[in-house]
Amino acid sequence: MNLENTLLMIPGPVPIVPRVQRAMSKPMFGHRGEEFGTIYDECREILAQLFGTNNEIFIISGSGTASIEAAIGNLIGKDDTIVTIENGKFGERLCDIGDRYGRAVKLQYEWGTPIDLDAVDNALEQGAKAIAMVHNETSAAIRNPVEKVAELAKKHGALFIMDAITTVGGDTVLVDEWGVDIAFMGSQKCIAAPPGLSAITVSDAAWDAMVDNRPYYLDLKAYRKSGSNNPSQTPYTPGVPLFSAMLEALRIVQEEGMEKRKHRHSQGAAAVRAAAGVLGIELFPTIDQYHSYSNTVTAMNIPQGITDKQLRGEMLDMNIQISGGQAHLKGKIFRIGSMGNFTATDMITTICALELVLHRHGLIDNIGEGVEAAYKELE
Ligand SMILES: *Cc1c(COP(=O)(O)O)cnc(C)c1O
Repeated sequence: MNLENTLLMIPGPVPIVPRVQRAMSKPMFGHRGEEFGTIYDECREILAQLFGTNNEIFIISGSGTASIEAAIGNLIGKDDTIVTIENGKFGERLCDIGDRYGRAVKLQYEWGTPIDLDAVDNALEQGAKAIAMVHNETSAAIRNPVEKVAELAKKHGALFIMDAITTVGGDTVLVDEWGVDIAFMGSQKCIAAPPGLSAITVSDAAWDAMVDNRPYYLDLKAYRKSGSNNPSQTPYTPGVPLFSAMLEALRIVQEEGMEKRKHRHSQGAAAVRAAAGVLGIELFPTIDQYHSYSNTVTAMNIPQGITDKQLRGEMLDMNIQISGGQAHLKGKIFRIGSMGNFTATDMITTICALELVLHRHGLIDNIGEGVEAAYKELE
């Protein structure tokens, strides 16, 4: 029986509210006219605030990875060196794309463990055109020290590329203040729009450093040229209904206010961690003074005595979908998102279902302690 009411508590895509869904179902309109240009410009204006930048924003029709490829593909030629940092699945993607376009010097750490800032310093010392890293490593639920790496990039004259896909719209992002050259986000994560769009921002220094042999579909200079038309446009036909949906989602972000929204996200993650604490579930990532637990997703070890399939399958039977681990973490960890327009009730419901499953498997004695611990963080 499909009741279409599964509570999606995964770290993207996240549920979209009816307002956003309705915005998507308007009659079709062209992408070279006033109507599209107005929507595009308003999206870009709000997104610039969420990125904390005065630089221009461009929106690519494609998922977040399209922007990663745009960032690296426009900056890195085959003889260029890029330092890439990996402590999770998405850092690995930066390494892979870096290698595809140029020479990636890979700093690789066990997923969910801290990166070594001295190693970053040393790698940049050898000379690199750019360095790329993930702000919030969604696969491992660890938030990486982007400000520290930005300082090191500046010290060595390297451009800094930041994957802010699961922080823009849910956590603090200060592109200009931190000195980030290229940053990008994905529509299906914290702003709670449907998947399919990705926004990217580019500094003056990055524009000046772009290679001649740029990707065709993802040529950022083509995006800049079309973006300055009146009405503003994208180079090729964009996912028009997705832009209408994104604008509505961004208006909702503005109505809530970024301060409140960030607080709500951090409370959501704190609630899951508090529940894990009393339920005897270990948090997966290892943090130190420079790293922290993610505010938008929480990763936990699957407890002894239950399998991934049982844990997530039985939650799904209760109409709640959570995530497992990616790649070698599959079967070892599970993840609960606190991302988008979730409510305190969504968090409580999720924790309650988790408790019911653990109780059924004899892993906890009482039901309700996790909910109580979570609720204290949500008040
Ligand atoms: C979701 C995500 C991406 C992009 O994935 P897509 O499937 O291309 O949208 C990249 N980096 C991080 C940190 C993510 O969470």
